[in-house]
Amino acid sequence: MELLDTFMTLPEKDRQHYVRLKKGYEGELMFDALTKKLQCECYILNDLLLNVNNTTFQIDSLLIVSEKICLFEVKNFEGDYFYETDTDVDRLYKRPNKEYTNPLHQLNRCKSLLRQLLHQIGFILPIEAQVVFINPGFTLYQATLDKPFIFPTQVNSYLKKIDGLPSRLNEKHKFLADKLISLHMEENPYTTLPPYHYEGLRKGLTCVGCRSFSMSVHGKKCVCGDCGHEELATTAVLRSVNELKLLFPKMRITTNLVYEWCRVVKCKKTIRRVLERNFKKAGVRQWTYYV
Ligand SMILES: [Zn+2]
Repeated sequence: MELLDTFMTLPEKDRQHYVRLKKGYEGELMFDALTKKLQCECYILNDLLLNVNNTTFQIDSLLIVSEKICLFEVKNFEGDYFYETDTDVDRLYKRPNKEYTNPLHQLNRCKSLLRQLLHQIGFILPIEAQVVFINPGFTLYQATLDKPFIFPTQVNSYLKKIDGLPSRLNEKHKFLADKLISLHMEENPYTTLPPYHYEGLRKGLTCVGCRSFSMSVHGKKCVCGDCGHEELATTAVLRSVNELKLLFPKMRITTNLVYEWCRVVKCKKTIRRVLERNFKKAGVRQWTYYV
């Protein structure tokens, strides 16, 4: 999505979707950075896509310690929100009054499905499920004390508490972690992307720092006209080829294609050298391509 946002103008709906995804992903990374620092004996599994009884569910972050499993739904919401407890359902709003999907519903669904999966695996640990609001600029009004919410100001002390647990992992925990990883399904990312084709994308090298197209070649370097970032031309070409491969996994990578894709690098010899050094050659002479 990030690449598509660089090389084409995303339709507004997709652009909004991309901004949401990016924000959510950044939130997960912030939380991962904190859980990574845990010293206690634990397994940390991030971003799992699982299936139980024909129902697919996604886990942002899961922590296995000896006595329990901590399940986290990470939210990178920013701004002032309020919580409304109705007779039938709890709702979450951003001020002044935009309703958002209540992460607690996602969390409970996830917890229930994970519990079913643990039963199937045959290793039952209690599940402690919580929504982590990771963004320091998040405020929630009107939530009662009993809600399983960890607020930005509480994340550190919460993890410290986990770190203080006398956790001892054994073979069973390892088995469980391995099993969950083996059940993880790779999502096909191409199914959720807006339609795009090679001809419709803007060509040219982009700056690794600011994504600008204002790149020019000076000797062995590519220099960004907007932010001044410098990168070795060969590194920039390689990065660009990898982006091309990611966007079009089935496309045959040839010197001419990369020449057209990068645009600012006018030296085909440089391009060929990058391809020869980093990829495997297939085909012969003018039919050469790289895999
Ligand atoms: Zn730049």
